[in-house]
Amino acid sequence: YAKANGRNKYQFFAAPMNAAANKRLHLESELWEALANNELLLHYQPQLDLPSGRIVGVEALVRWQHPKLGMIPPADFIPVAEDSGLILPLGHWVLLTACRQAKAWLDAGIDMGEIAVNISAYQFRQPEFAQSVRAVLAESGLPAERLELEITESTIMHSADSSVTTLEELKAMGVKLAVDDFGTGYSSLSYLRRFPIDRLKIDRSFVADMESDADAASLVASIIALGGSLGLRLVAEGVENSAQVSSLREMACERVQGFHFCRPMPAEGVVDMLNSLRPGIAPD
Ligand code: C2E
Ligand code: MG
Ligand code: MG
Ligand code: MG
Repeated sequence: YAKANGRNKYQFFAAPMNAAANKRLHLESELWEALANNELLLHYQPQLDLPSGRIVGVEALVRWQHPKLGMIPPADFIPVAEDSGLILPLGHWVLLTACRQAKAWLDAGIDMGEIAVNISAYQFRQPEFAQSVRAVLAESGLPAERLELEITESTIMHSADSSVTTLEELKAMGVKLAVDDFGTGYSSLSYLRRFPIDRLKIDRSFVADMESDADAASLVASIIALGGSLGLRLVAEGVENSAQVSSLREMACERVQGFHFCRPMPAEGVVDMLNSLRPGIAPD
């Protein structure tokens, strides 16, 4: 009985694991093709200045328009790309495409502020990363000040010494640096002094719990105060309702991003939104 049971258990666990591994392998080879066949695209999500409601930045977010499976979110394929090394050509494509879009807006007299691009840990750790950013800026013609790179705490902390060098090279070029998902990284805050960081992105988990959890609200207020006293810019991510907007306003959070204002959308959608905003009237 025990033996039969054991065997059944083995089969029970083995079958789904193989299926998952197979699916991953399949996704990986399809992702190579996706990159070559232009199945990847960028959506852009505006960041708004809280007092005025003006669009002052946009974050580029990658999507995969799969011919059979439809739109695949980055959480489903970025990890696959990271494990397979494909994140390097993919990340390069994202950076170049985003910078070209931002330059096209500038050339058309459309001021979207900075374009923010997510950089994965593996990409950031390449010794030639700063050089590749310089090359993309040259190729796209985008002024460095218009580019903001989003990096997570764990990426920065992983190899702190080489990170300083890379961040300082980027900083010297004029590129801006933001810490993404700030507050979720379990790391000491001392890196904020050591590294040339421009902005903290308050993680959306804190923003989401702000209304129901006084501790979450205190954390948001503390991050805003911390950022202010260290001379860092701020943006709150994942703002979904007007109660959160009022709280963030009271806390004097300068910048917001979230579904309440705008979902990530194709470039044309962002231009329509920019044109429809009446200057001086803040959305609530
Ligand atoms: P992230 O950089 O923290 O991006 C913010 C995510 O939150 C986006 O999900 C965005 O659609 C979502 N979001 C924005 N506002 C709201 C809101 O009000 N409520 C909720 N619930 N969600 C909101 P998305 O596009 O699925 O991206 C997920 C993650 O995938 C990103 O998190 C980032 O870590 C990664 N990612 C996306 N694009 C890229 C890329 O081009 N390169 C790399 N390396 N990673 C990327
Ligand atoms: Mg981000
Ligand atoms: Mg984030
Ligand atoms: Mg993230």
